[in-house]
Amino acid sequence: MPLSSLAPAPLPVPTHRAVDSDRRRTSASAVLRSVLAHGPVARSTIARLTGLSPASVTDHCNRLTALGLIQEAATLRRSNGVGRPHVPVDLDHSRFVVGGVHVAVPYTTVALLDLRGRVVAERRLNHGEGKKEGDVLANAASGLNTLLAAAPDRVPLGVGVATGGWVDRDSGTIVEHPLLGWRDVRAREVIHALTGVPVHVDGHARALVNGERLFGRTAGGGRSLLHLFVGNVVDAAFATHDEVHHGPRSQSGAIAHLPLAGGTELCDCGRTGCLQAELSERTLCRRAREAGVVRTSDPMHVLAAAADGDPVAVRLLLHRARMVGRAAGLLLDVLNPDTVVVTEMGAVHREDCLAALREEVGPDRAAAVVPTSFPDSVLAVAGGSVALDVLYRDPLSASSSASSSRSSDSSPGTI
Ligand SMILES: [Zn+2]
Repeated sequence: MPLSSLAPAPLPVPTHRAVDSDRRRTSASAVLRSVLAHGPVARSTIARLTGLSPASVTDHCNRLTALGLIQEAATLRRSNGVGRPHVPVDLDHSRFVVGGVHVAVPYTTVALLDLRGRVVAERRLNHGEGKKEGDVLANAASGLNTLLAAAPDRVPLGVGVATGGWVDRDSGTIVEHPLLGWRDVRAREVIHALTGVPVHVDGHARALVNGERLFGRTAGGGRSLLHLFVGNVVDAAFATHDEVHHGPRSQSGAIAHLPLAGGTELCDCGRTGCLQAELSERTLCRRAREAGVVRTSDPMHVLAAAADGDPVAVRLLLHRARMVGRAAGLLLDVLNPDTVVVTEMGAVHREDCLAALREEVGPDRAAAVVPTSFPDSVLAVAGGSVALDVLYRDPLSASSSASSSRSSDSSPGTI
């Protein structure tokens, strides 16, 4: 037998068409990201920023304009032509929106975001007693419909669904959310069936990394970024070179049961001091109730008590912030990111909590830790960022697939 017959079969060579389509997608994404970061911006500047030829930039700008994603900033110019190359272009944020759904343990947040990630409408829907997935998702879809009905001139490009726990982006499934008692919830399928627009699903820690990459304080930096989400669910996400790490079946970032030194809270898993049990808002509220600070399970009431000068509330929040700092230090040791973004109520709203958190991280790395860029709208941004990430990665197909699904929907104002 000749040796050559033992050689592995040659790898399939991508067709020219596939290569062209990849290149077109990447270039369109780079152009739209440039307009997001720098708009209004001249086409010649986009060419310099992206390394694309001026002709290619003009071509992409024409496509993006035809889709209604960008427009010439100088509105007095003729509206039907392509304009001269030096006329700046900017996002057209008057028309398109994305829907956002964030499912927390006690309530769902539904929202509409414009192309800059700004919240244009938002509603909170309490779960009430029942937290059945079918009811919660149906309420979310109906809440989005209500928001869109109140904004008839807005066109939805897609819906992003974000939640904690284990969420598999590829299958659009909430694989496991222990605090809600959900398993294998096909959120993408359910919301799509109720709305008729493309739906994308992801974990909220990853979604907020994408929000930070696109619209946050450090947007466009392209450096490594870790996001630590501390609500009732505690999880994390990591991005480097503009890519969020998912890992097999999107299981990356599950840190709920990492042991936290000094933790005293008994966890459902049977151990003591697991990160989520120690840091969760449920634990904070229970401790605050036991100390007579509040009577409710709403962590905002603990924050309000601290703002009113209750020393026990302040002490509880500072303790929690220090423990969050300890968790951030652990993750810094493992991943060594340039920036750690923390979404934690105390650190977001109180300087003393942020200072305590940073002190625990240590002086060398304290400056790397920053609170979320979206202090007043973090859950709304989480949901919407899932859809906006898809749009900015592949603007040509994301917006055209939304158009085609809308064309089969004859009822304006519903999605
Ligand atoms: Zn545990």
